[in-house]
Amino acid sequence: MTEALEELRRTVRGFADREIRPTARERDRDESFPAALLPGLAELGVLGATLPEEHGGAGLDAAAYRVIIEELGAADASIRSLVSVNLGLVGSSIVRWGTPEQQARWLPGLAVGELGAFGLTEPEAGSNPSELRTRAVADGDDWVLDGAKIFITNGARGAVTMVFARAIVAGEDRGITCFLVPQDTDGYVARQIHGKLGLRSGDTAEIVLEGVRVGGDAVLGEVGGGMKVALSALDNGRFSLAAGAVGLAREALEVSVRYAAERQQFGGPIAAKQLVQELLAAMHVDVEAASGLVDRVVACKLSGQRCTLEVSTAKLFATEASVRCADRAVQVHGGYGYIDEYPVQRLLRDARVTTLYEGTTQIQHLIIGRLLTGENAF
Ligand SMILES: Cc1cc2nc3c(=O)[nH]c(=O)nc-3n(C[C@H](O)[C@H](O)[C@H](O)COP(=O)(O)OP(=O)(O)OC[C@H]3O[C@@H](n4cnc5c(N)ncnc54)[C@H](O)[C@@H]3O)c2cc1C
Repeated sequence: MTEALEELRRTVRGFADREIRPTARERDRDESFPAALLPGLAELGVLGATLPEEHGGAGLDAAAYRVIIEELGAADASIRSLVSVNLGLVGSSIVRWGTPEQQARWLPGLAVGELGAFGLTEPEAGSNPSELRTRAVADGDDWVLDGAKIFITNGARGAVTMVFARAIVAGEDRGITCFLVPQDTDGYVARQIHGKLGLRSGDTAEIVLEGVRVGGDAVLGEVGGGMKVALSALDNGRFSLAAGAVGLAREALEVSVRYAAERQQFGGPIAAKQLVQELLAAMHVDVEAASGLVDRVVACKLSGQRCTLEVSTAKLFATEASVRCADRAVQVHGGYGYIDEYPVQRLLRDARVTTLYEGTTQIQHLIIGRLLTGENAF
């Protein structure tokens, strides 16, 4: 790692130690959104890390983004998730598919905490988004959207949502299309989902769209080109998720090594017990392996190639590894791991969703299998 990346890591970790970790337990307990942290994250350049400088971003590359996301993932996955969606899914899509006007309208806001959301999943369309039912009916130059979305990160607290809907023109289905919908548009109603296992400080919303009218300039990419937009976004989002999972797994290992050195049983630290060392060693192997797979994604992205195989491989392994590591961390902490005096039970709850969203582990297996064989087993 270069000195510049090490410096970036120290800077983000310093911010996380001062501002994020001290409030993580309370926000987790009372499910409160980290609104107070957004100005600091914006000032640090994190919210606009990969956005172009001319639109208020920091213009950083995939290697720097990975460092930032890994550090946020270690400190608090709710905040990592907020940033991953803002940049990995929404910002990167507007940069790639947006018109100059769309970029000028939305990117500067994303960089300062007017967050973006990615509205693909619906109650009846999860792993198979091509079954989505939200409709956008052409009305002159406008589009009128009706439908429902579920589990949308930043969906209630953001400024804009990428809404994927079937474009209907003169009664004909022109295919799934992505619309940039301001969250304050009439008919856009978002309700916070409470009672989540983890990511409890994050904004996860259920959205109802009732007669939501947007102009023709709200279409991101082409009419009928929505799945291309979604899949390119998910390649970025899953990279982000994999990097965040490495951070979470590493945090689980680091706090466990510290705890094992302090905790005394049978006349000495539990770190001296072979079976505790086995737990720690297994975590270390997972962290290193997951980190190596994320390195490969970074190298692929920096080379400018399409990285779907590398991304799905890293997403699958790193997210499963983060669940294993957080679970082992609870084991190392014994009964103290089961209460929130220590962070490991939050790490376990936060890790759990990573194998579910942005394509479940099963879906990653199917993507990898299809890329290896050319056969579609979905
Ligand atoms: C906290 C949270 C935040 C989220 N944020 C967002 C967001 O910002 N934007 C967004 O659009 N979505 C978001 N999601 C939704 C998430 O991406 C979906 O939950 C996920 O894609 C799975 O869809 P589903 O829940 O409908 O499960 P289902 O698709 O119903 O899957 C249920 C089970 O069946 C398995 N399965 C399904 N199809 C197959 C198959 N062909 N072969 C083998 N197994 C299969 C799955 O792997 C899974 O185990 C979020 C979800 C959560 C929980």
